[in-house]
Amino acid sequence: MERPTDQPHAASLLAEKNESCGIVYKKTTGHYDVRLDGRVLTCTLAARLRGPVDPIAVGDCVRLAELPGTGAEIAAILPRRNKFSRRSAVPMPTAHAHEQVLVANVDQVIPVFAAANPTPKWNMLDRYLVSAEAEGIPALVCITKLDLVQERDGSIQPDLLAVAEEYRRAGYPVVLASAISGAGLDELRDALDGRISVLLGKSGVGKSTLLNALEPGLGLRVNTVNEVTGKGRHTTTSMEMIPLAAGGAVVDTPGVQEFGLWDVDSDDLAYFYPEMRPFLGKCRFGLDCQHHEEPGCAVRKAVTSGLISPRRWQSYLHLKNLV
Ligand code: GDP
Repeated sequence: MERPTDQPHAASLLAEKNESCGIVYKKTTGHYDVRLDGRVLTCTLAARLRGPVDPIAVGDCVRLAELPGTGAEIAAILPRRNKFSRRSAVPMPTAHAHEQVLVANVDQVIPVFAAANPTPKWNMLDRYLVSAEAEGIPALVCITKLDLVQERDGSIQPDLLAVAEEYRRAGYPVVLASAISGAGLDELRDALDGRISVLLGKSGVGKSTLLNALEPGLGLRVNTVNEVTGKGRHTTTSMEMIPLAAGGAVVDTPGVQEFGLWDVDSDDLAYFYPEMRPFLGKCRFGLDCQHHEEPGCAVRKAVTSGLISPRRWQSYLHLKNLV
């Protein structure tokens, strides 16, 4: 795939076009790669937009202004149709957490977990999904490195199949993939086609390998997972949107090791577990029910009768700080 690395003369490109709005494809400290009319311009940010927190996210539509000389700067950020945020990691106990917008204007969120190495943390998947629900962004779950949990006869470990089934029953498409065996790659390619997707997952889960397998020629750097700690090394820290040959683009999110919810109201939490929605309002205490130990709770009854996964219910209680 041809990657747009050439740097056109910003002034002439902006002068050629009536419309000077582009999309931020990459950000590195102080610089932004903005794609405009199939070309990429490296821009700075207008001084009046700068602040303690970078206001630009990958995926933002921005208006550019010409700078004297050959440069261009981001002069305005256009309204976002959605954003996917996390609570910032707090560097010091005295500092305040703030919203960190990981990506803006996406069509779908794709959490990627390894079936093994590193061991998947399903509560983290639930946090990603709750954040996507809160923003109304569709999500697809991808579990990769399937080859690591397959027997010689090709059968898959029942525990993993059970988890995949839990998420399917909650309403999420689940793709079981392996860059080694090629399982799930066609399904994933179809899901990515023509859409802007953000891949979420800790380093080492296999995101880059998956993208390289989906689109040979991307040449993304592959991480190594420490056999002892099961943790991946960080190779890149810059967030980047990668255009796909078949149309659409993916945003890889390297360095997102932690993921805390931002701006999700605890009172709304049950609604962000889609499998709980049919039961909300049907508890004895109506909408006041926390779905924990209250008598006559319709959600708990659905858990007991197998309609809601006990593990997903526990994850809800955990996020609600009830356990
Ligand atoms: P990223 O940090 O999420 O981008 O992860 P990488 O793509 O860099 O992969 C981390 C490690 O997992 C590398 O050693 C890969 O070779 C390995 N890996 C990636 N995908 C697979 C897979 O499908 N099966 C197996 N067995 N190993 C994989």
